[in-house]
Amino acid sequence: MKKVEKYIDSLYKEDRDLLRVIRGIEEEDMPQISIAAGYGRLLTLLVKMSKPKRILEIGALGGYSGICLARGLDSEGSLLSLELKSEFADVAKKHLEAAGLSQKVSYRIGDAKETFKQLKEEGEQFDFFFIDADKTGYPQYLEAAIEISRPGAVIVGDNALQNGKINDPNVQSTSVRAMREFNRKIAEDPRLDSTILPAYDGLAIARVL
Ligand code: MG
Repeated sequence: MKKVEKYIDSLYKEDRDLLRVIRGIEEEDMPQISIAAGYGRLLTLLVKMSKPKRILEIGALGGYSGICLARGLDSEGSLLSLELKSEFADVAKKHLEAAGLSQKVSYRIGDAKETFKQLKEEGEQFDFFFIDADKTGYPQYLEAAIEISRPGAVIVGDNALQNGKINDPNVQSTSVRAMREFNRKIAEDPRLDSTILPAYDGLAIARVL
């Protein structure tokens, strides 16, 4: 983390619910790859500002971003979180419960690409999306999100910079190439207004026209 990022994090009080997630992830031996604290706060703000009724999260992990998203919802809002591994969803659910947010969230287990198809068939629509899952899937998740979005929906994607690999021409891994495709689509797709924030590991933010 950069010095300025540490400085900004130091301004904020310890967040017990999010600290519980970090510790829980460690105890469960899950990867410690939750969204950066500053972007977690940004998620809560974006939800409060855009007032979505339904949020779709792709990648629950331990529930860190789930808490940040659910915190921003008003009393009618809900969060559906997609997770490949049922054991991860169980951990996330436990942490949302401990944070007093379990009534706002539900989980669907399985390959998100399949779940997106099901949601489309069911005629489901969402007005906020947060993508933070396998990087190779990002371009498809973005397209699928646009397809089931309401006009004005917000789409946020974490890890746009891939720890600096994104603009290193020597790195040609499948995941980094997929993220390059995702970032380009965020920037160029005529159905989106967007920006990409370069702090932490990069955050793409778009709004569907
Ligand atoms: Mg991430």
